[in-house]
Amino acid sequence: MSIAIPGPYIELRGTRPRGELSPCAEVLTSPFAGNDQSDIPAASGFGTLAKIVRLNHMAPKELPSLLGIRVRRADDLSAVMTFSEARQIAVARSLRLPAVPVEWNLSTWFPFKAPSSLLATGWTFRYCPECLPRGYHTLLHQMPWVHRCAWHDVALRDDCDHCGLPVAVKADWVAGANLECTCGQSPLDTDLILRATTPEGAKCFTDNYLRWAAEERSRSMLVIPDLAGNPRPALAALVELPAGWRRRFRAITDSRIDASLGPPPPFSLMHVRTLMSSKRAPLPDRNGLLELEQVRRDRPGFLTTPKRLAPMMSAVAANLALRLPAQSLTDREMSLFLNGIGLEAPKSFAPARRRFSGEVSMLPPSFIGGRQFLNLLCVHPCSYRLVAGLVDAALEGRNLFDFHAQASPQEFDLLMRSCGQVLARGYAEGLRSTLADHVPEIYIQPRLSPRLRQPWALLRKESGHLSSVRIAWIPLTYASRGEAAGLEAANQANQRRHRPVRRRRK
Ligand SMILES: [Zn+2]
Ligand SMILES: [Zn+2]
Repeated sequence: MSIAIPGPYIELRGTRPRGELSPCAEVLTSPFAGNDQSDIPAASGFGTLAKIVRLNHMAPKELPSLLGIRVRRADDLSAVMTFSEARQIAVARSLRLPAVPVEWNLSTWFPFKAPSSLLATGWTFRYCPECLPRGYHTLLHQMPWVHRCAWHDVALRDDCDHCGLPVAVKADWVAGANLECTCGQSPLDTDLILRATTPEGAKCFTDNYLRWAAEERSRSMLVIPDLAGNPRPALAALVELPAGWRRRFRAITDSRIDASLGPPPPFSLMHVRTLMSSKRAPLPDRNGLLELEQVRRDRPGFLTTPKRLAPMMSAVAANLALRLPAQSLTDREMSLFLNGIGLEAPKSFAPARRRFSGEVSMLPPSFIGGRQFLNLLCVHPCSYRLVAGLVDAALEGRNLFDFHAQASPQEFDLLMRSCGQVLARGYAEGLRSTLADHVPEIYIQPRLSPRLRQPWALLRKESGHLSSVRIAWIPLTYASRGEAAGLEAANQANQRRHRPVRRRRK
């Protein structure tokens, strides 16, 4: 135990509060020009910093002493001010703000629950060419589902208006010329900043947007696939804005395509589907959910398909078999592919002139004792593991027994249908990719050509109950005819997930 020894006690006479006696009191108000944030609606941390740096003629080397942040010259200052909480706190303190404004936090702008770091991969500074010259930037303009400035109705940009080079957001400017491009043009205009007032309509719009996003966050959950790449195309497809705003934010009507979204996947390659809760739902089957737990394993092998989903998998295999070019499968293989739907091979069927392949025979679902087994080696792990993600998001920390007891039949049904949708599409794509190794003719059939996609999902609740699941499938890129090898590598990587790396003895 320590005993506090009282030091020499000085009594301040009178009743003046100490604060007033502080010699720093004067400095506490406004240390920089352009510091007053009171009439700037929902500006970003970087926007605020860029404006203050410009108006106060700061050089990069003065950032530590004046704004309390240390950065390297090569750092993207817009990323630093978006993703580094420590730097946001330091700048807010230097600007004498009472706290870090909530609008500096990226996740405040998300209409679903997810951490800000979600957008760190592939981050590019994006701005409105009407707002930024006046010293205004908001994180709304960084949202992948927003393509235009809602109050100026102009397309957002991530490059120099003049020469098309990326915006100079690195911490290596010449004092008084931050953000200036090597071509000499600057998206910031000191005179305009000095004269400008807040963009008209920005306050009202950002207020409404933030209110909508907060409401959506309370009932929407994003399910992110394993080893997710740039999330922007998926998010742009998943987020549905209120009808009245869609026109304002509308995408890609300009000749210019938003480069920060990455190369846009052709619409035929991207696939989006929304499943809604339906009034008529079968009685919940807890065993079905228990069986799906298998997908969490590192080596899931065969999945005992929940009874509810078995017909979907059978249909996938049969549909593919019936659409294959002539002489793709042997007689026996064909009957295995059609087994699940109880059909015989059509009369027109021409069998392949090769020997029966054990490997091909493992691709369609197999049946033992009336149960269906699905070979997960021909499903990409990002698909079957998303099934686990969907279940987790719906359960929200409850165990399967509690969920079974508490969820309505409609919720249960919607969850099972969504899992089935993800599994069936993942299986259809994986099956084509694997089979193409044995039947190369598949590659020259435009409608059958192998393609692997990564599913992302957005779950929504209405008065506490799961009401819709929206799934977006984003194409994965492989070398020409590399899908089967890519699938195999992904499955092997999945098997290694939790195993410690062992050194081989020589
Ligand atoms: Zn604007
Ligand atoms: Zn330029």
